[in-house]
Amino acid sequence: MRLLLVEDSVALADELLPRLRSEGYACDWLVDGRDALRAPFDDNYDAAILDLGLPGKSGLDILQEWRAAGQGLPVLVLTARNSWSDRITGLGAGADDYLGKPFHPDELVLRLRALLRRSHGADTTPLLTVNGIALDETRQCVRSISDDKGDGISLTGGEFSLLRYFMLNPRRLLSKWQLAEHLYRLDAERNSNVIEVHISHLRDKLGKGIIETRRGQGYIFRGLVP
Ligand code: CA
Repeated sequence: MRLLLVEDSVALADELLPRLRSEGYACDWLVDGRDALRAPFDDNYDAAILDLGLPGKSGLDILQEWRAAGQGLPVLVLTARNSWSDRITGLGAGADDYLGKPFHPDELVLRLRALLRRSHGADTTPLLTVNGIALDETRQCVRSISDDKGDGISLTGGEFSLLRYFMLNPRRLLSKWQLAEHLYRLDAERNSNVIEVHISHLRDKLGKGIIETRRGQGYIFRGLVP
C-alpha cells in the first residue's frame, strides 16, 4: 500500500514516516499544499493522510478540489483542533476519517488499516482473512484459516506488504508495474526482480497455488481455496 502524507510539521513527519514504513506502507511526504493538488492524479496512492493547516493551500481546499475533480482517494484528515465544527467541515468536504492532534501513532495505524480495508471492500476483523488465508497485520505473520493453532508463519517486510496488497485485491490481475507502483515510494528503486523474489518466497511458505502467474501479464492472488 502506498500512502501520501501531506504534513508541514517536520517533527510529526519524522515520527510518522519510520512508523508507517515499519507497518509495510510506502509513504511519500509533501509539506506544501500546492504540491499535494496534483499528487494523487500523477501517482497511484492507496490513501492520503492530510493535515488541514498547511503552507500554500489548506488541507480543506485540497480535499475539496480533489473531490470536485472526481478523485476518490481515501483520505484521513489531521488537524490541530479537534473541535466538532472542524470535524464536520472535514467530513462534509469528503474526508473518510478524522484524527485530532495530538494523537497516538498506534491510533493512526489502526484507523489507516481500517480505512484501507473498507476502501477495498474487506471487513475490519482483527485478522485480514481472504480466500482461506489469515494475515495478522500487527505481527506481520500469516496462516491458513484451517490451522488456527500456533503463531503462524512470519513474513519479511517485503513479503508482508506484497501479500497484503494481493489480499486486498483478490481475483485482480496485477502487473509487476502495478505492484511496484503500490509498494514502493516515488524515490525508491523499483526493481521488478524484487517482486519475483518475494512471490517465490510466499509460494515457498504458503504453497505454489497461492499466487497464479499469467505469463507476460502479471499475477492473480488465489489463496488457499481449492
Ligand atoms: Ca500543519
